[in-house]
Amino acid sequence: MGIATVNPTTGLTEKEFEPHSSEEVQARIAESAGAAARLRATTYEQRAAWMLAAAEILADEANSLAELITVEMGKPIAQSVAEVQKSAKAMRYYAENAEAFLADSPLQDPAAVGASQAWTRYEPLGAVLAVMPWNYPLWQVIRFAAPALMAGNSGLLKHASNVPQAAIYLDTLFERGGFPAGSFRTLLIGGGEVADVLADPRVKAVTLTGSEPAGRSVASIAADHVKKAVLELGGSDPFIVMPTADIAEAAATAVRARINNNGQSCIAGKRFIVHTDVYDAFAAEFAQRMADLVVGDPLDPQTEVGPLATRSGRDELAELVEDARDRGAQILAGGTIPDSKGFFYAPTVVAGLTDDMRLVQEEAFGPVASLYRANDREEALRIANQTSFGLSSAVWTRDAAEEEWFLQNLEAGAVFINGMTVSYQELPFGGIKRSGFGRELAAEGIREFCNLKTVWKA
Ligand code: NDP
Repeated sequence: MGIATVNPTTGLTEKEFEPHSSEEVQARIAESAGAAARLRATTYEQRAAWMLAAAEILADEANSLAELITVEMGKPIAQSVAEVQKSAKAMRYYAENAEAFLADSPLQDPAAVGASQAWTRYEPLGAVLAVMPWNYPLWQVIRFAAPALMAGNSGLLKHASNVPQAAIYLDTLFERGGFPAGSFRTLLIGGGEVADVLADPRVKAVTLTGSEPAGRSVASIAADHVKKAVLELGGSDPFIVMPTADIAEAAATAVRARINNNGQSCIAGKRFIVHTDVYDAFAAEFAQRMADLVVGDPLDPQTEVGPLATRSGRDELAELVEDARDRGAQILAGGTIPDSKGFFYAPTVVAGLTDDMRLVQEEAFGPVASLYRANDREEALRIANQTSFGLSSAVWTRDAAEEEWFLQNLEAGAVFINGMTVSYQELPFGGIKRSGFGRELAAEGIREFCNLKTVWKA
């Protein structure tokens, strides 16, 4: 399949798009580089006014845009509306905070370096390429674009090929807010075209959210050209439940952590590691709640779990479960492909996992939860850290010493205590190990695509 909207609820192709020709791609890169030069000369105040205007447009169009998101990738409509609102909020946040995040920082004791004054300042890099996934077709892009544009960079978007209408919407959004033409441009191209775009000297840096193979490829091309790269490559986050936790609350939250976005979130809790003293109670409650979820048409407000975004994604998820089942795992809920059109998979809980099962190492990108029993906190930690990913994690405990111990020892970019991982614009977001490098959001996110210039004055 090329660049097309395939409705995952029906399996039908709704709209196909011609990829941009190489001439068109060249023209768009030139426009982006030109816009970067113009943006550099604008003030924070000016860019903030444009960003706030674009946020207003987005918020005003929330309902139609949400429907488009749901038709293109299948998330329940209320979650699509929430995604649009969250994106508008992040645009306002960076409009209001970018100047403070990037303010000059003076050295307190310039005499120590033989200067009368010394300070640092952040400057934009220029045109930045964003290779983005389909799971949050708006939010993933905005959390790059809002800080990048507020810093004075321009953005070039290579969106996932299955969300072209979201990509086309984003192509004009910032211009409609008042940004100079070309400040943000969509490239309708396949993954194979990214290397040439990234090699172009007018493109200064790249950010990618997606799978490990895509990230590895893009980062190595960036390295060949000595360009900055930020990678966000997903995770297999642990959700640890210890005996002092409120088990009912932990189980209810675990379900939301697993099935939000139809289970296709990098920061979803995917491996539920439960202390043996509370394992049976948690497993019963969790499996029942997963089995009770309403699966169906994501445009129906009653639906809690819609289809997977693509047929291949659904089939790969089913293979992971089959592999575990074949090797002796127990299926406590789901484990089936419903007999319906579209790319559905039943919310599933798998227990009795052993290290030879693919589910132990690979990311389950859909509504499939892995359940582990741990005899003590050391075993819980070993299971939590045995994955090659290190994005986020969650720990449920009311024991302060235990909390601190997990905080110190979990190999992850974030730890959420007695809650589930959520991305907040105010908090840095990113991982370690094979989840990638660099940070998005908060002050750290906007600084990734800036030149931190050191100034020394005699
Ligand atoms: P991909 O990584 O293939 O797609 C993400 C983006 O990268 C898309 O824009 C894609 O373009 C592009 N891309 C893919 N390969 C390359 C490449 N070699 N060079 C440059 N760009 C490339 O994700 P999938 O959609 O195939 O999903 C596969 C798995 O990735 C999921 O099951 C999940 O494990 C993980 N994933 C993680 C996400 C996250 O939030 N961290 C989001 C999405 C997926 P195109 O669509 O044209 O191929």
